[in-house]
Amino acid sequence: MVVSESDAKFMFCPLLKTSDDKMKMCQVDRCMMWCWTDDTKQEGYCGLAGRPGASK
Ligand code: SF4
Repeated sequence: MVVSESDAKFMFCPLLKTSDDKMKMCQVDRCMMWCWTDDTKQEGYCGLAGRPGASK
């Protein structure tokens, strides 16, 4: 799912948890899995599930 950076910051990451086992928000470009859709860095996606819209 392609989203803006500001929206991604309010989405839960499926991997990150706090020390008391609560889900954490996406770290956006501070995470190695984050991918920008282009050089303008307006939108991007979590690369964990591959590129959005790409066939398997
Ligand atoms: S980009 Fe990183 S921090 Fe964000 S949801 Fe994906 S794995 Fe989690």
